[in-house]
Amino acid sequence: MTVRLRAHHLLCLLTYVGRGYSPAFVAGYDRIVARLDAGEGAVLVAGPDDICAPMLGAGHHCHEPRIAARDAAALAALAGLSGGALSLGATFPLSRDEVARLRAAFATGAIRAACAGCQWTGLCDQVAARGFSGTRLAGADLVTPPRALGTPD
Ligand code: SF4
Repeated sequence: MTVRLRAHHLLCLLTYVGRGYSPAFVAGYDRIVARLDAGEGAVLVAGPDDICAPMLGAGHHCHEPRIAARDAAALAALAGLSGGALSLGATFPLSRDEVARLRAAFATGAIRAACAGCQWTGLCDQVAARGFSGTRLAGADLVTPPRALGTPD
């Protein structure tokens, strides 16, 4: 099994501190974090993903064009960071090293174009400013990551 992630949710995972739209959403998010931390692979998908799952059918924003635009911005940034390795359909484990690299890029703003206009921006700014303390995603404890992300210019 792989965890299906829309591109901007790969960013959201970096600052996830257990807050979300509803208790069901948070519970589902926690299960996904646990799967990723256990070393289950992730795959980038278009449209609603496994994090969206508890919200589908509730009239939420998962299918809206503005959210697809957020994914496109995130995908462009992640592809740039990874030399194209992070693209739609790419399957990868989120090792601790990769999470650290992504968080370093997030903190500089290099991969945050997708965050423009998001209601959670203030929270995510604070989480990044305090060094991501309290975040729930640790990353998988992989001795040799199969692929290392690049670093931002
Ligand atoms: S600001 Fe919004 S889109 Fe950006 S990481 Fe936070 S929750 Fe995700």
